[in-house]
Amino acid sequence: MWDKKWFGYWKQDGGLYENCPDISDWIGSESLQPCKDIVNYIEGGDLVAVSPMKTVCHICNATIDSSKVVYTDGEWLWTKDLSHYVSHHQLKLPHLFLNKMKKFNYVCPEIDENFDAMNLEHP
Ligand SMILES: [Zn+2]
Repeated sequence: MWDKKWFGYWKQDGGLYENCPDISDWIGSESLQPCKDIVNYIEGGDLVAVSPMKTVCHICNATIDSSKVVYTDGEWLWTKDLSHYVSHHQLKLPHLFLNKMKKFNYVCPEIDENFDAMNLEHP
């Protein structure tokens, strides 16, 4: 059971993230359904941070993005590259995160302008 409110940082990222989960533990054998809607939610978040760090897939070594992009829906914090893992590698997501997406009909909610991203849980 995943009890954090962030997702998408992996042990494989190294350095600061050495205590994060091993991505191989989250790779399943079945695709998440509805995959396209889940990807829309993941990519429709509100931008929290961008760092000029090439994002390379830990599974297939493909370059996913030329930067590391972090999104939020006001509650969860995640990395944009999750969409690659969900659509190409059957990555599983925490149940509570999926329930939230479902509740919002897979449309990431707009966040309040007074929202302070510094209060979000992060690794
Ligand atoms: Zn990949």
